[in-house]
Amino acid sequence: ATPSALVASVASCARLGLLIKDVSVLELAAKVNSVVFDKTGTLTKGDLAVVKLKPAEGTEPADLLKAAVIAESSSNHPAARAVIKLAGEAGVTAPADVECQEVPGRGVEAVYGGKTIRVGRRSWLEECDVDCSPIEVNPEETKGRSVVYVAEGAKVLGWIGLSDTIREQAPIAISSLNKLGVNDLNMVTGDSDSVAVKVAKEVAVNQVSSECLPHEKVEYVERLKSEGKIVTVVGDGVNDAPALAAGHVSIAMGVSGADIAVNSASVALMNNDLRRVPFFIKLAKTNQAVMM
Ligand code: ADP
Ligand code: MG
Repeated sequence: ATPSALVASVASCARLGLLIKDVSVLELAAKVNSVVFDKTGTLTKGDLAVVKLKPAEGTEPADLLKAAVIAESSSNHPAARAVIKLAGEAGVTAPADVECQEVPGRGVEAVYGGKTIRVGRRSWLEECDVDCSPIEVNPEETKGRSVVYVAEGAKVLGWIGLSDTIREQAPIAISSLNKLGVNDLNMVTGDSDSVAVKVAKEVAVNQVSSECLPHEKVEYVERLKSEGKIVTVVGDGVNDAPALAAGHVSIAMGVSGADIAVNSASVALMNNDLRRVPFFIKLAKTNQAVMM
């Protein structure tokens, strides 16, 4: 494209909230034939709410919530925001002087009263020698929702069920990508298989990989690249930065100011409207056609 055509493309993207860091990305975007979406906060709103507190035997619901908020108090993870919100409403407060440590893709931990409190995925708690079997979750109780476990030392205190909602634009964006001939549509997530499969079905992506740790999301992208695919990664923030950096083209959602995800991404999507993803790829393809 002529320089002025490129400038025009960048400008029309900007008007729609797509900030392009480097124009050369348009050339790669024209060749994209595979997209990898993160789930939470990307295909879903990531606006989690606590829908169930399931204490283990001998634990009161309030104690489960208290332990959870102690560990989550300084985390910005969607699960943490949901726990903090409910605790606030219930008047359950965390002491101000606890130090919390985020373990990306796994959970969060804090030392309180000489014990380590952890909130996170089951596999991580089990790695930390917590036996979660006293509180098996059955599908009727979770109804396809995300679950995080809470433990104090080696003792499981219970689990917390969290709801999330799919972004309205997600199925539309997926169908537009298919129409553009971008048919290799993937979703990767740290969440459980049952939740992942449910969301994948609703938005109609064709491949799904669940219970991924951040480095496994990267490996997933690398595998597609090694198959010769030109890959766009769409993710939101904190835990997706490595996967974004692995994509030929990467689009960061939920961008606010000095977010880390933005630094790893070639494009920042300012308004979370997923329809801008096919728009961007289509624009790049059109641009390329003008160039030839
Ligand atoms: P996703 O791929 O769904 O965006 P993440 O990579 O952020 O998920 O986290 C993967 C899993 O690790 C979550 O589904 C959750 O079980 C657990 N997890 C991570 N951070 C936290 C946290 N702060 N509180 C509770 N659970 C967490
Ligand atoms: Mg995410």
